[in-house]
Amino acid sequence: KDFRNNIKPNWCPGCGDFSIQAAIQRAAANVGLEPENLGIVSGIGCSGRISGYINAYGFHGVHGRSLPIAQGLKMANRELTVLAAGGDGDGFAIGMGHTVHAIRRNINITYIVMDNQIYGLTKGQTSPRSAEGFKTKSTPAGSIESALSPLEVALAAGATFIGQSFSSNLKQLTALIEAGMKHNGFSFINVFSPCVTFNKVNTYDWFKENIVDLEETPDYDPSNRVMAMTKIMETNSLLTGLIYQNTTKTSYENHVPGFKEEGMSKLNLKISEQEFDKLVTEFK
Ligand code: SF4
Repeated sequence: KDFRNNIKPNWCPGCGDFSIQAAIQRAAANVGLEPENLGIVSGIGCSGRISGYINAYGFHGVHGRSLPIAQGLKMANRELTVLAAGGDGDGFAIGMGHTVHAIRRNINITYIVMDNQIYGLTKGQTSPRSAEGFKTKSTPAGSIESALSPLEVALAAGATFIGQSFSSNLKQLTALIEAGMKHNGFSFINVFSPCVTFNKVNTYDWFKENIVDLEETPDYDPSNRVMAMTKIMETNSLLTGLIYQNTTKTSYENHVPGFKEEGMSKLNLKISEQEFDKLVTEFK
């Protein structure tokens, strides 16, 4: 169960994305998956490279479109554990429509947002997660927009699983991804993943000073939606841990009339090896 491959990530040294890669690899091993049981779909951005850095089926999609592909993958083969991953620009700007609808649809996949509060791949522009007043090349006088709160959006959209973590907390992050993979429905996990090259405001130290960990709130009940929203708002969305989980609702695919338990890989498609090779060649 080794989810490492021999591809060396080309992320900048110190980038938060390394920990997310490690957490996914550990979580997949902890839940007892084999590499052929896991599919990872990513969008575009520094984070988008993650689908190539894990020993599993990987699909590097187009900008903001990891979720439609990941949902299609799950519907085509429900036996596969499917994970979608991408940055905050990918998921909360160009892909925001998909994010909200995937959340409310509740297909059984896990979505990890690698949230660095900036566009890293294009060398540092303001993203939907950048704070008001944040200065970049695209907002030299400071951003005049408010930062989006992904946790509030996810809860309002009807999420059945919401977690948030921080790249420096590998233990918590691994446990959350593991729980997300086991959850019967859509799991939304936002991860503070510092961009050490372009974001000089939201640094590792800044997060360490500002994060509010739910471990410090023993009375917190993650099944209480009102409590979750109150806590998210009280902490300005800087809450980490398992924020909300509804275990009573079953996932989308269980409600599709006639939907098969058996994955496509098990179906007898009545196609010869030669015909299959011809098909693959045609679509290469
Ligand atoms: Fe990571 Fe930022 Fe470098 Fe991209 S530019 S790899 S987000 S540190």
